[in-house]
Amino acid sequence: MSYKISIIEGDGIGHEIVPAALKVLEHTGLSFEWDFVLAGEKAVEEYQTPVPDSTIESILSNKLALKGPLTNLVARGWPSPNVMLRKNLGLFAAVKRARYFEGVGSPFKNADLVVVREAKEDTYAGAEQQVGSDAAIAIKFITKENSLNVANFTFDLARRLGRKKVSITHKANVLKLTDGIFLKSAQEAAKNYPDIECDSLMIDHMAFKLVNDSLDCDVILAPNVYGDILADLIAGICGSLGLGFGGNFGPEAAVFEPVHGTAPTIAGQGIANPIGEILSGAMLLSYIGEEQAAKTIENAVASVLKKGEFLTGDLGGTASTNDITDAIIREMK
Ligand code: ATP
Repeated sequence: MSYKISIIEGDGIGHEIVPAALKVLEHTGLSFEWDFVLAGEKAVEEYQTPVPDSTIESILSNKLALKGPLTNLVARGWPSPNVMLRKNLGLFAAVKRARYFEGVGSPFKNADLVVVREAKEDTYAGAEQQVGSDAAIAIKFITKENSLNVANFTFDLARRLGRKKVSITHKANVLKLTDGIFLKSAQEAAKNYPDIECDSLMIDHMAFKLVNDSLDCDVILAPNVYGDILADLIAGICGSLGLGFGGNFGPEAAVFEPVHGTAPTIAGQGIANPIGEILSGAMLLSYIGEEQAAKTIENAVASVLKKGEFLTGDLGGTASTNDITDAIIREMK
């Protein structure tokens, strides 16, 4: 059987890390058919839109995609390609993961964190308006229906991953209506999952506890904006933004991608860390039931990081993207 997967190389370091991830996936021995499609800067050049219909059609047909980071083109007058993908594909939940690996300079030796970020609403829906010449407003839009969906998704995910607890984060003491709906909906959903412990923490308290390593948490459920910030935070806690990995989920498709962005300052130099992209590929494999292959990749990554011979600059080494990718492939047994 061959898996057909839509591939978006993306922008910046995407051109280096996506080919690296495909090389690793091919080395699992599974059979893949890559369906290369465009989004971001290249799509604007070729189709005059950040996400052409052909890309959406490909992903809806394959139901699976692996993507690199995309340049946010809002400053150039285009809609954000990531927001377009989420809207057009109905991706309502973004899962961001990061874990501690031996050999990586992080004091958080027990970290294995999962953040589920609501992905459709909140101020990131992009409803902004100028008020006079020197002021502007952004609308924070939160619905019970979507909050319940993402909460149910989170508790199901916690069960599937064998996690014990979901911590809801919010700021409902200030944003009583919007974050209030999110919190109440998540607490309502929790009642249907008596096997999973559930608590709630204010976002500022959550941030403090995360960097203080005093957070006893498995899975964090967050509204869109807080979840975006926490995703980078958990990757940083685990030693590098280059190590965070994840996926976006909707009823019709799942799109896997690393936590970091396009890193334009290092793009084109062949020095980007491909591990976030590679682990996103492993997460895709696990999602389609290829647990063994996913584990093989994760173990190979762990082994390369532990040995420390081929580390990229963000991890304190001098290895190139190709060096670390080849080292991971050599460890895949
Ligand atoms: P964008 O505008 O797309 O968000 P950015 O550079 O502002 O790009 P990130 O791409 O998330 O934000 O990265 C911030 C910094 O973290 C980068 O400049 C780079 O130094 C480092 N970084 C991120 N990802 C990687 C990676 N995969 N390998 C090495 N360094 C990385």
